[in-house]
Amino acid sequence: MADPTLILKLAVPTPLRRLFDYLPPPGIKRDQLQPGCRLRVPFGRGQAVAVLVARGGHSDIEPRRLRPAAALLDKAPLIPDELLRLARWAADYYHHPVGEVFQLLLPAPLRKGRPAVLPASPLRWRLSDAGAAVNPDTLKRAPRQAALLSALAAQPGRGLDESALRVAGGGSWRKTLAGLREKGWIEAAPPPGGAPRAEVAPTVSLNAEQATAVAAIEEAAGRYQAFLLDGVTGSGKTEVYLHAIRQTLAQGKQALVLVPEIALTPQLLARFSQRLPGPPAVWHSGLSERERLATWLGAKSGAAAVIIGTRSAVFLPLARAGLIILDEEHDPSFKQQDGFRYHARDVAVWRAHQLGIPVVLGSATPALETLHNAALGRYRHLRLPHRAGNARPPRLRLADMRGLNPDSVLSPTLLKAMDEHLSSGNQVLLFLNRRGYAPVLLCPRCGWLAQCHHCDARMIYHHSEQRLRCHHCGAGQRAPRHCPKCAGEKLKLLGHGTERVESALAQHFPGTPVARIDRDTTARKGELERALKAAHSGAARILVGTQMLAKGHHLPAVTLAAVLNADQGLFGADFRASERLAQLIVQVAGRAGRGEQTGEVIIQTYHSDHPLLRTLLTQGYGAYAQAALDERRLAALAPFSYLALLRAEAPGTQAPMRFLQAAADLGRHAPVTLLGPVPAPMEKRAGRYRAQLLLQAELRPVLHRFLRQWLPEVEALPLGRKVRWSLDVDPGDML
Ligand code: ADP
Ligand code: ZN
Ligand code: ZN
Repeated sequence: MADPTLILKLAVPTPLRRLFDYLPPPGIKRDQLQPGCRLRVPFGRGQAVAVLVARGGHSDIEPRRLRPAAALLDKAPLIPDELLRLARWAADYYHHPVGEVFQLLLPAPLRKGRPAVLPASPLRWRLSDAGAAVNPDTLKRAPRQAALLSALAAQPGRGLDESALRVAGGGSWRKTLAGLREKGWIEAAPPPGGAPRAEVAPTVSLNAEQATAVAAIEEAAGRYQAFLLDGVTGSGKTEVYLHAIRQTLAQGKQALVLVPEIALTPQLLARFSQRLPGPPAVWHSGLSERERLATWLGAKSGAAAVIIGTRSAVFLPLARAGLIILDEEHDPSFKQQDGFRYHARDVAVWRAHQLGIPVVLGSATPALETLHNAALGRYRHLRLPHRAGNARPPRLRLADMRGLNPDSVLSPTLLKAMDEHLSSGNQVLLFLNRRGYAPVLLCPRCGWLAQCHHCDARMIYHHSEQRLRCHHCGAGQRAPRHCPKCAGEKLKLLGHGTERVESALAQHFPGTPVARIDRDTTARKGELERALKAAHSGAARILVGTQMLAKGHHLPAVTLAAVLNADQGLFGADFRASERLAQLIVQVAGRAGRGEQTGEVIIQTYHSDHPLLRTLLTQGYGAYAQAALDERRLAALAPFSYLALLRAEAPGTQAPMRFLQAAADLGRHAPVTLLGPVPAPMEKRAGRYRAQLLLQAELRPVLHRFLRQWLPEVEALPLGRKVRWSLDVDPGDML
C-alpha cells in the first residue's frame, strides 16, 4: 500500500507554475524517496518523468484524489541538493514553471527517464591512414562504401558517431562499415576532446598585473567572491583563467568555464587542452545526446575536472566545485531569449555565492550592470589595462562617409589604409553587421519595396541564390526581375551586406584572396573551421564578416580592422543599442595588432560628431561606460531600476494589446511602474503581432513581491488564452 502520509512534491514538465502532489509508488519505502530522484508519473492522459523536489505531509488536494507515482527511476538522487536549490531559486527568480527549468537541467536521455549511465560506447569511427589515402571516386563499384568514406573524410580528426554514420551510409550502414573495417580503412576515433596527454605546454610567465589578478583569485579559494576581470583585448585574460584553473585543479576542485555561443571554437579548445593536464569536457548545443550525457555525468561525478560550455552549462551538476569563470561576460548570448529567459551570468554569481566559491567575470567591455556592481563593491575590480607581450594598443579613427556616393561601402580613407596594410603583407578584417547582398530592393519608378509579408521588415537580397530572404522569419522567394507592382524593369539595390562587400573587394583588390565569414558561408559543419584556418594560415588576406568574426579570435597578422557601418547601432530602438555598439567597436578593434605590429582601426560613419563615438574614440570604453551609466541613471533604466517585460503575441493585432491592458489593469495599484502596453518595436514578426508591457521598480524585492502576487491573476485572465505570452525578468533586448 502507498504511504498516505507521505506526499511527494514533484516538478513535472508542464508550463504550469507549480509543483504537483503525488503519493509514493506502490512498494517503495519512504527512505528510498530522496529529493533529486526521478519518478515516472501518470500525467494528463499519458505519463511524464518528474523530479522529486521535496517531501511533505500535507496536500491541498483531497487525499483520495491524489494519484500514486508509477515508478521510482533512481536508486540515489540524480540531482544533487545544491542543484535542486539552484533550479528552485531560478524558477522563482525568473517566475518560470519549475518543471520546465528541470527540463533544461537534464540531458535528453535523462529527461526521457533513461538510466543515469552511459550506454555501452557507440564508437566513433574515423579514417585510418590507409583509408585517407583512398580516393572515394575510384570506388565506383561500391557506392555505399564511397559515400561513407567521403563523409568520414570530411571529419578527419574526430570522425563520426553512429548516428552520423547512419545518415551518411543509409539503411545498411553497419554492413558497409564492417566492409571498411575489413579493409583496414577505418579505426576507432578517440572520444571528443582528444586523448589525455602527459605533457602540458609550458606556462607563460605572467606580467605584474596578471599575477596580481591570479593571486587575488587564488586568495579567494574556498569562499564566495565575485571578480570583474576588466582587461583590454589581448591583455592576457585567458592566461589568468588558465592559471586560476590550474590552481583550482591542484586543490582537487573542478572549474566551470562559460563562454559565448560563438566562442566555443576548436582554437579555444585547443588552447585549453594544451595548457591543462587533460582535455576539458565540453557542453554546447552541437553535441550529440550521448556526448552531452557524458559531460553531464562526468561533471556530476567529478571525473570532469574542467568543463567548458555555453550558457546552459551553468546548470551542470558539480561534485567538487572550486571556480566559475565567465568569459566575455557582456555577451548577449548569455541571456536566453525564449522560454526560460535566464541570464547565465546572474545565475553563475548566485550559484558561486551558494557554493561558497569565487566567480570571475572577464571582459574587455564589461556590461554596464557589471561595472555598476563593481563600483558598488559587490564585485572586486581587477584590471589589465595593457596588452600582454609586445602588442601595443591599436590606433582608432573615424572615416566620415558624408558626401560619398551612397553606392560605395569602402571610403577612400579605408581603401588607402587597406592598400598600405596589404602591400606590407598584413591581413585586413572588415566587420559588417549584415549578411546577404543588399538590405533594400526597390523600384525607383513606383516606390515599391521588397517587404516580408510576415514581418515588419524588408527582405534582404542574396545574390548567389538570386533570392530575397527575411532574416527575421526565414521566409524566402525568388528575387523578381520586374517590379511586381508597376512592371518597371530597373529595380535598384540599396545598402550593403557582407556578400556585396565581398564583390566590391573583388573589384578593388583583384587577385587578393578574401574569406567571408557569416552564417551563410558557415552554415555547413566544418566550414567555419575551414574559414578560420584560411584566416590563420594567411591563405586569406582580407577577412569580411559579421559578429562571428568580431569575437574572440586571435589573428596575429591582422593589422587593420574596420567597422563598415557603425551607424546601425547609434539610433537603435533598444536602450542597450549604444552599449552593444560600443562593445562591438572595441571588440573589432581588439582584432587588430595582436601580433608584433601596431594595429589600426577605422570606424566608418555618417555621424562622425556623435558624442558616443567621440567619447569612445578619444577616452576609451571606460569613459563611454561612465557616460552611458549616467544616462541610464537619469532615465531610471537598468541597473538603476529593476525591469520585467510582459510580452504577448497573436495572429491578430487586437488580442495582444487587450490582454496586456487587462494585465495592466490588474496592476493598477501596484507599487511598481507599469509602462504600456505598447506594440513591440517590430510589431509584426513571423505572421504574429507583438506587444509588451514594461514593469519597473526601484527595488528588486518590490518587483518580485509584486510579480508573485500578480502573475497568478494574469494566468487566470481569459484573454490570456487568445495570445501567447511570456514574462522576461531583467530583459536583455526589448525587441
Ligand atoms: P585576452 O584573453 O585578454 O584577449 P590572451 O590571454 O588571449 O588575451 O592573450 C593575448 C596574447 O598574449 C596571447 O597570444 C597570449 O599567449 C599572450 N600573452 C598573454 N599573457 C602573456 C604574458 N604574460 N607574456 C607574454 N605573452 C602573453
Ligand atoms: Zn514599380
Ligand atoms: Zn519575415
